[in-house]
Amino acid sequence: MTNLVDTTPTDILKKHFGYDSFRHQQKEIIHHILEGRDALVLMPTGGGKSLCYQVPALIFEGVTIVISPLIALMKDQVDALRLNGISAAYLNSSLSQQEQAEVMRLLRDNRLKLLYLAPERLVSGDKGFINFLKDQAKLSMIAIDEAHCISQWGHDFRPEYTQLATLKSVFPEVPVVALTATADKLTQDDILQQLKLHNPKKFVSSFNRENIYYFVSPKRRSYDQLLQFLNKHKDDTGIIYTLSRASAESLAEQLIADGYDARPYHAGLDRDVRDKHQDLFIKDQIKIITATIAFGMGIDKSNVRFVVHMDLPKNIEGYYQETGRAGRDGLKSEALLFYSYADVKKLKSFVEVEGNTQQSEIMLKKLNEMAEYGELRTCRRKYLLNYFDEEAADECGSCDVCLSEEEKFDGTVIAQKVLSAVTRLEERFGTGYVIDFLRGSKSAKIWDKHKSLKTYGVGADIGKEEWNHYIKDLIHLNYLAKDDGKYPVLKLTHKSKNVLQGKEQVQLFMIKQIEEPVISVQTIPVNQELFTTLKALRMEIAQRENVPPYIVFSDATLQELAT
Ligand code: ADP
Ligand code: MG
Ligand code: ZN
Repeated sequence: MTNLVDTTPTDILKKHFGYDSFRHQQKEIIHHILEGRDALVLMPTGGGKSLCYQVPALIFEGVTIVISPLIALMKDQVDALRLNGISAAYLNSSLSQQEQAEVMRLLRDNRLKLLYLAPERLVSGDKGFINFLKDQAKLSMIAIDEAHCISQWGHDFRPEYTQLATLKSVFPEVPVVALTATADKLTQDDILQQLKLHNPKKFVSSFNRENIYYFVSPKRRSYDQLLQFLNKHKDDTGIIYTLSRASAESLAEQLIADGYDARPYHAGLDRDVRDKHQDLFIKDQIKIITATIAFGMGIDKSNVRFVVHMDLPKNIEGYYQETGRAGRDGLKSEALLFYSYADVKKLKSFVEVEGNTQQSEIMLKKLNEMAEYGELRTCRRKYLLNYFDEEAADECGSCDVCLSEEEKFDGTVIAQKVLSAVTRLEERFGTGYVIDFLRGSKSAKIWDKHKSLKTYGVGADIGKEEWNHYIKDLIHLNYLAKDDGKYPVLKLTHKSKNVLQGKEQVQLFMIKQIEEPVISVQTIPVNQELFTTLKALRMEIAQRENVPPYIVFSDATLQELAT
């Protein structure tokens, strides 16, 4: 790239933005872009992604276009840039014909440094605007903000974004930078592939939010549990996410009735109502917003002290993005999730409706990972960071698991048994099989093939469920790995060897007795009609109380039914 204006990134940072130094990898990213190369930038919300393209935009000759889905925020962003003495504009449906013509004139005269666009504006049917850019403007760079929107595997797919794939073929020489705060490995690869980035470099900043404490509570009577939580946060501001629009509204009503300053927000509300509620929240005139996932993208409110999820989110990407809205000011904040297996089942049934496509398989995989988070018995922060491909310490000291008083014990021998079983079985089998082997199953398949192996049956003293827990924990602690296949196979890791050689001790969690709401089981004769009624009743209670579908009858009822 030639034609650079004679100035350095640091000069620009000081002169136009008033900051003294770059943070995270901003400097490396900017230099990389200035070399005319493509990049994918993963940086947490509030990390400072905008400067990564704004600074090069000011150095390059010509105009940088910034694609963003956040039409509502474009005006604010452009106004802020103009206040800093930068020539910027936006094009979207909110502008009059005359205003749009004025922007086009500025482009033609090469008098704009930054132009914000909604994706549909860029790639409208007739390719009019792309051709205009090609023939009459001087395009220096393309920045694609919220780039995860291009991927169906991401959590906020926008069909308009897929059209951006054509950009690279129309402007092969123009560097493209894609930016996002939320993309797991799968989504990252999809972004790179779809945008056809040329030899891109990936910049991943740490996603760790040290000031956010992560908590999960088993969901029982979630409204009462919520009130208990809010009671400890009387003066705090927070977001409460619900799965459905209806519950966002009813929750706000309930909270108001209980004396809390809450308003709902979801895509089904009239625009002016929505805007009003958002505004009240941002200006600290209400404390609580109850919302669906429609709320939050692009909102920059620093003092959100808690984010509660009443229902299970569909995937970790969405969950992490939503919890990330807490604690932008760096002060201690809390993320609380109410978890129940009933929610997992409900979400699964939504996915299954879509049939057995590649998309639904990926959605199921992500849902299972979300459920796994809810059931973790190892550090939640570690799980979240690992999910985004980032290394993390085994314990963070600021999640419910790390903080719990739950007892640990020296599980080295247990670990050794599993690891040597996996070794003897040549890393070719999944959890269930390994457990059967450890427990000395007499099933023909295992007995015939492996009975003479040394570790066969060494774990007969421990039950299947218990083994399952230990193996899960060993995976989360990286002593074991599970590959990604359709039938996941247990593998050793770099940490396994030390344990097998007795050089490393393994701390495992004691197994908690799982509380079953079943008190007594009796068999009574019932006719078909009664059976159907009981089944329906059981489901109804299970749904209302958010418990698994068990039902307990009083002795009196049993007597009555039996006669
Ligand atoms: P993101 O898009 O990653 O969520 P922004 O680009 O909106 O984050 O930046 C978040 C805030 O951080 C903004 O107020 C921005 O001005 C500020 N910021 C970004 N980079 C720096 C820096 N190097 N020094 C100080 N403040 C910065
Ligand atoms: Mg941003
Ligand atoms: Zn932790």
